[in-house]
Amino acid sequence: MIETIGYAAKAEKDKLKSFAFQRRELNDNDVLIEIKYCGVCHSDIHQVNNDWGGSLYPMVPGHEIVGIVKKVGSNVNLYKEGDTVGVGCLVDSCQECDSCKEDLEQYCEKGGIGTYNSKEYDGKTLTQGGYSSCIVVREEFVLRIPENLDLMAAAPLLCAGVTTYSPIKHWKMKAGDRLGVVGLGGLGHMAIKLAKAMSIHITLFTTSPEKVEDAKKLGADEVVLSKNKDEMEKMANKLDFIIDTVAAIHDINSLQLCLKRDGKMIMVGLPDKPYPDVMISNIIFKRKTLAGSLIGGIKETQEMLDFCGEHDIVCEIEKINIEDINQAYERTIKGDVKYRFVIDMASLKKG
Ligand code: NAP
Ligand code: ZN
Repeated sequence: MIETIGYAAKAEKDKLKSFAFQRRELNDNDVLIEIKYCGVCHSDIHQVNNDWGGSLYPMVPGHEIVGIVKKVGSNVNLYKEGDTVGVGCLVDSCQECDSCKEDLEQYCEKGGIGTYNSKEYDGKTLTQGGYSSCIVVREEFVLRIPENLDLMAAAPLLCAGVTTYSPIKHWKMKAGDRLGVVGLGGLGHMAIKLAKAMSIHITLFTTSPEKVEDAKKLGADEVVLSKNKDEMEKMANKLDFIIDTVAAIHDINSLQLCLKRDGKMIMVGLPDKPYPDVMISNIIFKRKTLAGSLIGGIKETQEMLDFCGEHDIVCEIEKINIEDINQAYERTIKGDVKYRFVIDMASLKKG
């Protein structure tokens, strides 16, 4: 077994603390990665707090992992020691069902195995995530990070990047289409950067007046303060698509009114409760679609990383040491992060 150190929550809503555990020895198709940086996704906070139910403890969160290959199993072909790689939200799937065969492992019909907060297919071993010194992953779930990208700033691409890239691709958004992005956080700022690189027209909806200038610098063509009724009314029937990244219950009915006929609203933000008063009439009249989207498959994640390499796209990040993680969670909940915390794992070794 491989001795590993990390930070874990031992129970629901617990503060994260230093935690020693073991990773499996390498199977023939496994890669051992020394973790250099790990992004802090709002999903980590939801899962530590058991917002969605079913959380498993002790839990080492983290699914925006980048690092260096330290060792490979005897059948590994794609990677070698020294390669710069990443791991996102998934570490295994059945590889046999229709979804897996279509490179949509995130929708695996047997249930994909999450990087943390999952049980392996043996039914007992808990997966543990990237707030840790190393990880062992089968090679099919390892991603290659383009060399021109800053490694630390590339980490959040593994979740925030692909979660916003996937709906852009699936719904075939193209240059000149009008896209609304709701919420300027980790996911929202990546939606803007990716859509901008595809010449999609972007309207950002934010609740934070202090983010307006940043949003424009990041690439938003216009910014709407979603709590301002007049500004919202002016947007009626203007958009082809909306990607909603908000982590809490909010007024999605007024957002739907901003879509044109046949417009599509794609939910990626996942609050802890169901939406109480969704106005179905908003989608019936004008034939609109209310949809959802979950991260992205492995092939699509690599495609997104390569796209970011070609277009020099990385995330806006604030580097933290692992001992600051609990404070970072509090700040993320308050929306006080520009625009993703990334943990420098070197701080783990010092601690
Ligand atoms: P984040 O960095 O905290 O950003 C969320 C943003 O939502 C905030 O910055 C804020 O933007 C806005 N917001 C927060 N509370 C709000 C409220 N009460 N009303 C209106 N707006 C509010 O979070 P994230 O990491 O981007 O994640 C966002 C959500 O996506 C989370 O629920 C996460 O679990 C989920 N997620 C889903 C997937 C998927 O596969 N579907 C993948 C990753 C994450 P403004 O200040 O601009 O209003
Ligand atoms: Zn995530």
